[in-house]
Amino acid sequence: MNYCESSHQKTLEPSHYEIIMSMRYNLIKCSCGFSFGSTKSKENYCTKCGSTRNLVIVEKFENPEELARAISFANLPDEISEELILKIKEKESKIKTNKINNNNDLGGLSVLKKATDKQGNLTKSSLDKFLSEEGSIESSSEYLIGQAEVQGFLIRVNENTWNWLS
Ligand SMILES: [Zn+2]
Repeated sequence: MNYCESSHQKTLEPSHYEIIMSMRYNLIKCSCGFSFGSTKSKENYCTKCGSTRNLVIVEKFENPEELARAISFANLPDEISEELILKIKEKESKIKTNKINNNNDLGGLSVLKKATDKQGNLTKSSLDKFLSEEGSIESSSEYLIGQAEVQGFLIRVNENTWNWLS
């Protein structure tokens, strides 16, 4: 905020003052999947498809730098952005955890859990991807899935997909 605004606030109409105080850098997501930024909470339109409907304010930020970063994250394909966020937030602790987990039998399971998507599906390709990114796992995806299957944790639902048994 600049000093000009605060020194003039007494002369502003309450509504104007409120507008200034409530000014936020909004991260807005359109139903087309595109995310964009706006300082307005109303009357926005998607900068990709032009829609003025089905816009949701996902998050509010205090400054344009944070917003810009959030937008670039938001517009990455889901898989990539999740990976990036994971890497940034958990980089250190994740590597440590995996090293510990690899020393016991449940280590493989925690890896399998992490490679499982939100719908509860585990695919060989997602596990392969996860393992190669981790770089610290020696077991192959076939081996890990095979072990979990034999132990009754996983059930195969199609050629490349497994679900967890409760
Ligand atoms: Zn759109």
